[in-house]
Amino acid sequence: MNKISSARICPVCDSTTNEFIIKIDFELFDGHPMNGGYDVVQCTNCGLIYANTPVTQSDLDIYYTDLSKYEDKILATGGGFTENDKKRLSVTAQFISKHVTDKNSRIVDLGCSNGGLLKELLDLGYSNIVGIDPSSACVQITSEHVGCECYQYSLYDIPESVGKFDVVISTHVLEHLLDVKKAITIIDNLLNMDGLVYIECPNADYYYEVIHAPLQEFNAEHINHFTETAFQNLMNSFGYAKLITADKIMKTASEQDYHAVYGLFRKENKHSAEVFSMKFDNAVRKRIDKYINDSNKIFDQIKATIAALPEDKPVGLFGIGQFAFKLLKTDFFKNNRQYKLFDNNRMNVGKKINGFKIMPGDELVSEYRKEKFPILISSLIHEMSIRKNIQDLFEKNGEDVPEMIGFFHLLS
Ligand SMILES: [Zn+2]
Repeated sequence: MNKISSARICPVCDSTTNEFIIKIDFELFDGHPMNGGYDVVQCTNCGLIYANTPVTQSDLDIYYTDLSKYEDKILATGGGFTENDKKRLSVTAQFISKHVTDKNSRIVDLGCSNGGLLKELLDLGYSNIVGIDPSSACVQITSEHVGCECYQYSLYDIPESVGKFDVVISTHVLEHLLDVKKAITIIDNLLNMDGLVYIECPNADYYYEVIHAPLQEFNAEHINHFTETAFQNLMNSFGYAKLITADKIMKTASEQDYHAVYGLFRKENKHSAEVFSMKFDNAVRKRIDKYINDSNKIFDQIKATIAALPEDKPVGLFGIGQFAFKLLKTDFFKNNRQYKLFDNNRMNVGKKINGFKIMPGDELVSEYRKEKFPILISSLIHEMSIRKNIQDLFEKNGEDVPEMIGFFHLLS
């Protein structure tokens, strides 16, 4: 366990020392700023687990503005368009309503995606609500779907003219950001004194409980791994009082549990030095180590399965997301293997990985007619729907349904 000096300082406590945990390698779309992966490290001062990535915020801004997957209504979360997504947003809105009794409170959702949470708040009687999101499509969908004020700004460019708020909500945003403290400073500037901030992120304390795909939580988008302790350290350093931090469970598309940490904090008129006490996160490391060990066991089984595939044929991958990115970095695919990539998300179709263009899912039939090849379902979270989709596609075209190789069963 060697201490190394950091390319990226700790996003919670600014410490420059950390301990290496694991290198995460993934193949992204050609030209993606985060190509080549990163080291996951633990801050030796506060215990936060984070990605020691060399990318810059402007690189990430380009990625989220131009390549945003959240614009797809069917595949994305945050809009409340699927039953599980709506349930999750409804639980959050009800929690907020318990702590915000004044229905005229001015509330902003930063990174409002397709406006699902704002819609739930509107339905609970809050009408003074505002959405802000960097994606123009999200702003348009929110305006139409919720009918509230909505602005297209990236978090770091919100102008003073949007005014002040009684409640600021930031769910599933902070885990994406390089400069978390700058984001909290912006939230602080938006809040009235005694205002409340609600933050929510994936809960690193519970990654080990349910593996959604091997090492899934360490991906190109999630670069900070929060816990209740990390939230407290972060917000206490800004002088905020903790009202509540806790774990919550929601459901993924594959009906697996997904743990999130949430916290409600109040802006108080104290100097931060008066209240700040850093607490080292003693619990998270052994939980993360278990998550990594269990993930690697599953990944080894997956590698053994694909190693047995015939060498003289290309391989088809259906479902191009965070797991496919990692799969493409394994020795099997690095070894000059020809592959064909398919995805139903129109935001991904046409992009290239290693020069291979991602084709729309329904082209699988014509490609398969040219030459038969093994088909890997390279998304574990969406495996059931992809299987069904491929089956329907081949039947519709009067073809025998080909054999598909999936990995979801390895998770249990
Ligand atoms: Zn730290």
